[in-house]
Amino acid sequence: VWSTVPAGPPDPILGVTEAFKADKDPRKINLGVGAYRDENGKPYVLNAVKKAEETLAKQNPDKEYLPITGLPEFTASAAKLAYGADSVPLKEGRVAVTQSISGTGALRIGGAFLGRFYPHVKTIYLPVPSWGNHTPIFRDSGLEVKGYRYFDKKTVGLDFEGLKEDLRAAPEKAIVLLHACAHNPTGVDPTPEQWKEISDIIKEKQLFPFFDMAYQGFASGNTTRDAFAVRYFVEQGHQVAVSQSFAKNMGLYGERVGAFSLVTSSPEERARVDSQLKIVIRPMYSNPPLHGARIASTILRDEQLYGLWESEVKHMADRIIQMRDRLYDNLVSQNTPGEWNHIKKQIGMFSFTGLTQPQTKALAEKAHIYMTADGRISMAGLNGKNIDYFSESVSKAVKG
Ligand code: PMP
Repeated sequence: VWSTVPAGPPDPILGVTEAFKADKDPRKINLGVGAYRDENGKPYVLNAVKKAEETLAKQNPDKEYLPITGLPEFTASAAKLAYGADSVPLKEGRVAVTQSISGTGALRIGGAFLGRFYPHVKTIYLPVPSWGNHTPIFRDSGLEVKGYRYFDKKTVGLDFEGLKEDLRAAPEKAIVLLHACAHNPTGVDPTPEQWKEISDIIKEKQLFPFFDMAYQGFASGNTTRDAFAVRYFVEQGHQVAVSQSFAKNMGLYGERVGAFSLVTSSPEERARVDSQLKIVIRPMYSNPPLHGARIASTILRDEQLYGLWESEVKHMADRIIQMRDRLYDNLVSQNTPGEWNHIKKQIGMFSFTGLTQPQTKALAEKAHIYMTADGRISMAGLNGKNIDYFSESVSKAVKG
């Protein structure tokens, strides 16, 4: 039956992990995968999560199905985290929100909803480059996918002029995907001033802003600061869509906890949107998983656990920033040719190093260091034990 099915290409990021696993050298380092690692290079379960699980175990809750749009306490708390407790549309009951299978599921629900109901041009503009899964998610949702300039290879920073030109040249009312903070893969974010200009252009052209917020808290260590763009846009009257993930900021990767929300113009409109979100979700997976949403909502609703969580998010973000500083200092003190300021300036889990494909290949073959072919490294894979070996190896690879 399946003789005509062609073999698909392997996933570029998971392929890096395969190569890493097959390498037997004790010095090997995997900087491919976007998951936080502690000072010893180990996966990290947050204490806030462990405590929430203890609390939940004592409550001995049942395992009944959740409603189609998920755990109501969770969705209410997630929306508050994204939009802020004082958000006007939240207070007015104008935000439609549903639980999702983490960030990927949120983007897919959003894509499917827009594909079905967005009344204007069904084209979504993604930053170039963007997270590799964005294109297939939105294409499979029935949207046309195009790009807007984002990254400038020469400055290893934001191509702000290119971005503005491309948004201005997009058809009116097209959909624009924005990374709310800690842009993946580049680690390059607009400044607050630049966000304001982007908001103005989006307003002028009546574009539809769809925020992907996969790293709230992870960029600066502060969930409020990282929500700046989303909250500013909402204050400016944009009816945004927001995808949230609790994979990184709560370390709940495999629990698949996320939320998708849409700001509507009235509670009555919200109720209609809610009803259609259910009709989008029901045939996809019927209803979402329970455990992770209970963990996240326990943390978000308990003052003490919330405080503990905030301190742990900050700890993770600070450790990554520390690694950026050390990597920069090492590269400079080893007289590595080139300009390395971007390592310190970039934000969040990833750094776009500017290393070329031959250099990343040499690092894998000669130094047992694995990263994606575009030179992106997960800063969280670096720690006190491997940072010096990593810096020396990069320095050697660049010197050739
Ligand atoms: N958006 C971006 C920009 C991401 O980097 C990721 C995770 N790599 C996601 C969404 C979704 O991740 P998840 O489905 O694990 O929440």
